[in-house]
Amino acid sequence: MEQTLSIIKPDAVERNLGDEIKDIFIKNHLKIKDSKKIHISKEEASEFYKVHQSKPFYDALCSYLSSGPIIVMILEGENAIKENRRLMGATNPKEAEEGTIRKLYGISIDKNSVHGSDSLENAKKEINFFFKN
Ligand code: UDP
Ligand code: MG
Repeated sequence: MEQTLSIIKPDAVERNLGDEIKDIFIKNHLKIKDSKKIHISKEEASEFYKVHQSKPFYDALCSYLSSGPIIVMILEGENAIKENRRLMGATNPKEAEEGTIRKLYGISIDKNSVHGSDSLENAKKEINFFFKN
């Protein structure tokens, strides 16, 4: 079974949307294998989002991800990476399809409620980043 990393971002945790978002995964056959609520530092956020270091939004993105508690989860299921991305919807909530998490809950392109790994390689890296033991 494939695994992917999901993050419920500060804007959604702050609005107590954790359980509602988890329900969407469960109803769509993605098992939550592990979950924890944490508050990361800006340094950790900068490491996590390193792939975006050349982007103009990088600094704001790292400040934002470290601005409050987040819920990090390992999701498992058939095609979990693609399926999670489908359930999340487009990066910009305004462009996200009806019924997707970002359409339902996203506030803006930066406060878009969830993160999901985009490839098998990144899923492995990102799971290891938060759940290495
Ligand atoms: N982001 C942003 N402004 C942009 C593009 C992206 O603030 O113009 C943020 C947004 O929170 C997004 C994250 O950077 O979720 C990572 O961007 P990516 O293109 O990887 O989007 P995602 O994979 O999250 O859909
Ligand atoms: Mg991405």
